[in-house]
Amino acid sequence: MTPSAEQQPNSVKQIVIVGGGFAGLNCARKLATNPNVRITLLDKNNYQQFQPLLYQVATALLAPGNIAFNLREAVRRDPNVDIRLTEAVSVDLKSRTVQTAEGERYQGDFLVLAAGSQANFFGTPGAEQNTFPLYSLRDAERLRSRLLAMLESAHRDKGLIEKGALNFVIVGAGPTGTEMSGALAEGVQAWKNKKRGAKIYKDLPLERAQIFLVDAGHAVLSAFSPSAQAYAAKQLAARDVQIRLGTRVQEAGSGHVTLSDGTRIPTHTVVWAGGLKASSLSENLGIKTGQGGRIDVQPDLTVPGFSRVYGLGDFANIADQDGRPLPQLGSVAEQTGKWCAKNILLDISGKPRVSFRYLDKGIMAMIGRNAAVAEVGKRRHELEGPVAFAAWLGVHAALLASTRAKIEAFMDWAWAYFGGALEDVVLDRPEELQINWNDEGEEKSG
Ligand SMILES: Cc1cc2nc3c(=O)[nH]c(=O)nc-3n(C[C@H](O)[C@H](O)[C@H](O)COP(=O)(O)OP(=O)(O)OC[C@H]3O[C@@H](n4cnc5c(N)ncnc54)[C@H](O)[C@@H]3O)c2cc1C
Repeated sequence: MTPSAEQQPNSVKQIVIVGGGFAGLNCARKLATNPNVRITLLDKNNYQQFQPLLYQVATALLAPGNIAFNLREAVRRDPNVDIRLTEAVSVDLKSRTVQTAEGERYQGDFLVLAAGSQANFFGTPGAEQNTFPLYSLRDAERLRSRLLAMLESAHRDKGLIEKGALNFVIVGAGPTGTEMSGALAEGVQAWKNKKRGAKIYKDLPLERAQIFLVDAGHAVLSAFSPSAQAYAAKQLAARDVQIRLGTRVQEAGSGHVTLSDGTRIPTHTVVWAGGLKASSLSENLGIKTGQGGRIDVQPDLTVPGFSRVYGLGDFANIADQDGRPLPQLGSVAEQTGKWCAKNILLDISGKPRVSFRYLDKGIMAMIGRNAAVAEVGKRRHELEGPVAFAAWLGVHAALLASTRAKIEAFMDWAWAYFGGALEDVVLDRPEELQINWNDEGEEKSG
């Protein structure tokens, strides 16, 4: 199928969007308010995933359905938005044509590239094969199964603890790594502190569990203020997270990691939150990409030389009004999506496009129960502790797509708050029990 502008009445413009995340979906929904445009939104998943809460799926605080939202449902009331479940594999920017994995082509009067990002392993030997990235719903569900598989295995055979069954290494001390470490540490503490009869794993020596947070930089949460960094490090240490700063993962094996200081940690669970780059579509655009494999865009969000092609969100290098590069954040993606729609509509009506202006609402990160940090607004008003914790819950619930998801998330958070986290989880991927306990691919013992 080749939808094209030519098939539409002259006044109707065809817009093709690749990626239904924060950027693409917001763009589609804003464009849809204009009856003279027809939007085709291509995504390889039929859902939008809410990445900020992936770590809560991985630690079984939330169910996958709480953080993934059907794209068709999201545009149910927008008759001029058509969702296509397909993977874009290449793009001809000149003709604004997208080629899909199935060999179909989608051509538009305008093309919006919002395909997001993926893990960047920075060439670390073994990282791609042996670590657990945390960038998609699939990643989070796989990691959750691996965590459970480790507990089950160590419970069955205590000798596997020596082989690292209860060692968990998190690479990257940004918000994702920090939140993951805190949630995992609280889960372990909750299990340890239960009265004997109420324990899920009754004779598992959880005091032997170790959580390492490793980062090549010199601070936890480096994007935050020094006081927030110190607070986060203290809160993690209080939860028995061992923080290794100024240290990089040199190599990740099937049963260990080696750090740059020479330490070798036996482990079968290495969570990769160590960086990201543009999703692989960026390699097939026929143009030179910039920092992080992302496409460079102009202040009005168009790709240089292609006035009707836009790059948004994590897929693009976007600057603020002062020319400073913006980070890969949900709020940046959402705002660029809406701005792009505005510019396309201006273009259609023959008016000049306007430069993107970012409204900085601040940043926040959760460490654990009653412990979070937030820097609110452009002036970065700092909050920490229970106030930031409450703010984090409110903001994240508000961002969830449906009322049902908000209610369910609050119920799950309340349950976790009073000590019920990580308990009634089923191991629905038995293949995760197939672990090579002999390290480096010698022999399997299930
Ligand atoms: C673990 C984690 C935690 C985070 N926490 C926060 C936070 O607390 N606060 C915050 O502001 N930001 C956070 N972020 C960042 C934020 O989630 C991203 O900046 C935001 O999701 C980017 O939106 P996007 O629309 O550009 O990309 P995405 O939301 O990733 O959407 C991209 C879409 O493109 C689709 N796609 C990709 N390739 C193709 C293809 N070839 N063909 C078809 N479809 C394709 C994908 O399926 C996806 O639906 C976090 C990110 C991660 C990974």
